[in-house]
Formats: sequence, C-alpha cells, structure tokens
Amino acid sequence: SASVATLVEWLHQFGSLVEQNKGYLTDLDSAIGDADHGSNMARGMTAVLNQVADPGAADALFKKVGMTLVSSVGGASGPLYGTFFMRFATGLGDGTEVTPEALVSSLRAGLDGVISRGKAELGDKTMVDAMTPAVVAIEGSVASGESLADATRAGAEAARRGRESTIAMVARKGRASYLGERSKGHQDPGATSTTYLFEALAASLD
Ligand code: ADP
Ligand code: MG
Ligand code: MG
Repeated sequence: SASVATLVEWLHQFGSLVEQNKGYLTDLDSAIGDADHGSNMARGMTAVLNQVADPGAADALFKKVGMTLVSSVGGASGPLYGTFFMRFATGLGDGTEVTPEALVSSLRAGLDGVISRGKAELGDKTMVDAMTPAVVAIEGSVASGESLADATRAGAEAARRGRESTIAMVARKGRASYLGERSKGHQDPGATSTTYLFEALAASLD
C-alpha cells in the first residue's frame, strides 16, 4: 500500500518537476497557446505545497489539493488538475494508508473527472492523451499483480509515449484549437506537465 506520507512526497516531486521545467512548459505553451502553462502550474503547486505540512487523512488532503489548484491557477489547467485531484480524493478513504486497488480506482476517477469536465477525447491534443494511457497502464499492471512501484513506472512510460503522440495531433480543445492545423508539430504543454505528474508518482513509490 501507499502511505499519506508517500502521497505527499508525490506532490513534492511533482512540484519540483514543474518548478525545474517551468520555462520549458511556458515555451511549449507559447508555441500553441498563451505562454503561461509553466507559471500557472508553478503558482498552483507552490500554493499546494504550502498546505501539506500536516496532511491528515488521504481523502481530505487531496480534496484540499484540488480546491487549492482550482482557486490558485487561472486558465484551463487549474480547474482540470483541480478536478483530477478532487475526484482522486473520493476513492482514497479517510485513513492514512491507501491500498493499490484504491489508488488505481482513484486515478481512474481523476481521469474520468478531467474528461467529463473538459470534454476532450483521446487524440484532441490535451493532457488526456498522456493521462489516459498512464492510468490504463497502471490499472493493467496492478491487476496482473505487479507492485505499485512497477505499475507506476509503467504508467510514467505510457504517459511519455502519450505526450510524444501529441506532437503529430491537431488540437481540438483549449486555446491550441484556435490554431487548427497549425497546432501540428508542437508538443502539448498539458500532456507534458501530466507526464511529470506520473513520473513524480513513480519516483515517490520507488
Ligand atoms: P490556458 O490554455 O487557459 O492558458 P494552461 O496554459 O495552463 O491554460 O493549460 C493549457 C493546457 O490545458 C493544454 O496544453 C491542454 O493540455 C489542457 N487543456 C486545455 N483545454 C482542455 C480540455 N478541454 N480538456 C483537457 N485538457 C485541456
Ligand atoms: Mg496557457
Ligand atoms: Mg492562460
């Protein structure tokens, strides 16, 4: 299982990756958006990490994480990541240990929340193109009896492949969709930050 302390470590690792790659995320967004994805995510994760010192129960912690992202990140990514974490929270229970099965179903709930909130389908060149294969890989890996460390490593690999697949896509959701065909050839910023989310999860469980 995973402890709340491990899940807090996940948030720290994600915040570090966002901070280290803030300029890169903003550069990606400057090509097909409005050049703020790095600063949006960094502001959001700074606000989140200011609130995790005394985490308490898993469900309450991640509800707070989600609400903090919604309120501190302007733009499309705030409500989407916020929804991810608020829906993720609902499957965790009010204890301080989370079973692999609960973690997997919570990740699936988070993904479903992002899809119902943003209405993006696979292939629309959004964070969904990294998040979906990552969650599917983790589900499959845990179902076949692999450890959470191995499953989340497979999830990070799947997210990276999904992120790469966005380069060839034409954007159909978000600001990048205003560019139509001209969005082709550029990697989606949100799929890039989502890949950090899954790389951070794997690193925290390693
Ligand atoms: P904004 O576009 O409002 O400036 P950000 O730059 O922070 O917000 O985030 C942009 C990212 O949000 C995109 O790269 C994409 O991955 C994601 N995104 C935008 N709209 C949607 C949507 N409807 N569904 C899923 N993801 C989306
Ligand atoms: Mg933007
Ligand atoms: Mg913006």
